[in-house]
Amino acid sequence: MQIFYFDTLELPRRLSETAGAFPRGLCFMNDDVRDEPLLLTPGPCSISMAVKQAMLHDLAFGEAAIVAKVKEARDYLVALCRGDGDYTAVPLQGTGTYAVEAAIGTLVPRDGPTAGKLLIHSNGVYGDRIVDVCRQMRVPYAVLATTPLERPTVEQFEQAIAADPAISHVAVVHCETSTGMLNPVDEIAALCRRLGKGLLIDAIATFGFVELDARRLGFDAVIVSANKGLQSAPGLSWVIARRDALARCKGHSWSHSLDLWDQHDHMERTGQFRFTPPTHLVLAFCEALKEHNEEGGIAARGRRYGASWRRLVDGMRQMGFQTLLPDELCASIVATFHNPDDPNYSFKKLYDGMKARGFVIFPGRLAAANTFRIACIGVVTERDIGRAMDALADVMREMGVTRFGRGAAGTA
Ligand SMILES: *Cc1c(COP(=O)(O)O)cnc(C)c1O
Repeated sequence: MQIFYFDTLELPRRLSETAGAFPRGLCFMNDDVRDEPLLLTPGPCSISMAVKQAMLHDLAFGEAAIVAKVKEARDYLVALCRGDGDYTAVPLQGTGTYAVEAAIGTLVPRDGPTAGKLLIHSNGVYGDRIVDVCRQMRVPYAVLATTPLERPTVEQFEQAIAADPAISHVAVVHCETSTGMLNPVDEIAALCRRLGKGLLIDAIATFGFVELDARRLGFDAVIVSANKGLQSAPGLSWVIARRDALARCKGHSWSHSLDLWDQHDHMERTGQFRFTPPTHLVLAFCEALKEHNEEGGIAARGRRYGASWRRLVDGMRQMGFQTLLPDELCASIVATFHNPDDPNYSFKKLYDGMKARGFVIFPGRLAAANTFRIACIGVVTERDIGRAMDALADVMREMGVTRFGRGAAGTA
């Protein structure tokens, strides 16, 4: 894929759209032919034509080309979190949740003399999902539940750990995508280091555009998905694990297919997946990493998402919408808005109206709070968000909504 930075150049964003000078910013050239709605949802997200085209090959098991691509991807991911030498990236067939299960099931031993216990922090849907994972796998766990509306404090973690000496590991979601809350992993990592606890970070929503420095944070594992900030096709996921932590975990896993130790051991010895390799997804993923690098890595992608997010939140506020969270608590992946308190408003009409205009948005996940969400990850630019804001204003006019203030809780 080519990424062009425009000052004055004019190019169509879709075949059906030829008007309009591009403002300064980024344009994903090959997406000109996109004639399906742009996904303003936090997964799946829209990916580039080049990433999709990279999948148009059938490679056989063990072919040198696929072995080389897997290695390339593993090296890139480890380098992205500055984990060279001490860390290893293990791919898994499956979405992010599969990697969450594999990491916990392998790195937190359930029983025996080394049995551990996982302190799970939750302030939303994805923290709760880790609880579900542990309950079903019968991994010993304790839950630190904090309000979804305020940033958790490191004191809360310290108290929870002090209250239960059995705790060996801590799990935290970096960005809680159900609200957009960015949890303070730096402070939590420092605490875990001080107390000698292993740290597992669900960075599925943030990896690739928010810095996560393995040398500074010293985590045991970071969980990553191919979709979301890395902008590849969903269905492939990764655990970036500390080599010495993983090396201790032979035979810990409760599951054969999700045995991270075995997957890693096999890959180190043969360069290959244990089972049918997801060849098309690996090819797509390497293309997506090339785009990531060409865009300028974490910093540049963070700036693009940040600019889109700013435009989104400012645009919505200008219309009168209210956000669930104050800006300083959020990651620039998604924003959560209160449904307006107007009898003419219906989320379904908003959703359908936006889709008809080329954008897919998302209902809220905190049912009680009566919200909806708009994300800005994937091949989305600030300009796309500008067009989405125009479309949204148009839909609201069509609906006859005049009051944009916060609706009553629990009436979604
Ligand atoms: C998307 C996401 C996941 C994984 O969800 P899948 O449906 O398995 O892809 C996990 N955690 C967070 C924070 C996410 O945003």
